Amino acid sequence: MKINVQNIPDGGEMLQGSEPASIVELDGPDIRFEHAIAYNLHAQIQEQALLVTGKLRTPATLRCSRCLKIFQWPVRVDDFVVHRELAGEDFVDLTENLREDIILALPQRALCQTDCQGLCPVCGKDLNEGVCQCQSAQGDLRWQALDQIKLK
Ligand SMILES: [Zn+2]
Ligand SMILES: [Zn+2]
Repeated sequence: MKINVQNIPDGGEMLQGSEPASIVELDGPDIRFEHAIAYNLHAQIQEQALLVTGKLRTPATLRCSRCLKIFQWPVRVDDFVVHRELAGEDFVDLTENLREDIILALPQRALCQTDCQGLCPVCGKDLNEGVCQCQSAQGDLRWQALDQIKLK
């Protein structure tokens, strides 16, 4: 995303639009960006420097670290700020700043819901959809073992 700093009027200007998802350069099985990055920014020139502030929005496609489900997570950057000293150039490229702020806004741990139950380590069933056979069987075995101890 390149801004023509020569065209910014004295009072600054609003910049609204979107950049392609490819600028984030993340396209793996756990994190992908498939939708455009929407920006709503204000650019102004202050004492030989460019100041850009505003918001970024894009949905990230993440894989839940517990149940491995793919889900969409809304990335929100509400305090995007770039301050760049100018030395006579016509254009300033903000692509790297957009990319960094979007990556920093990702959750530390991807969870499809905060109380995701994950998968059964034995049969792999998604425990969000209910308890599996082997979990109840395991419970039975423990009770049987306890019963045997009591009998002795
Ligand atoms: Zn999950
Ligand atoms: Zn199971």
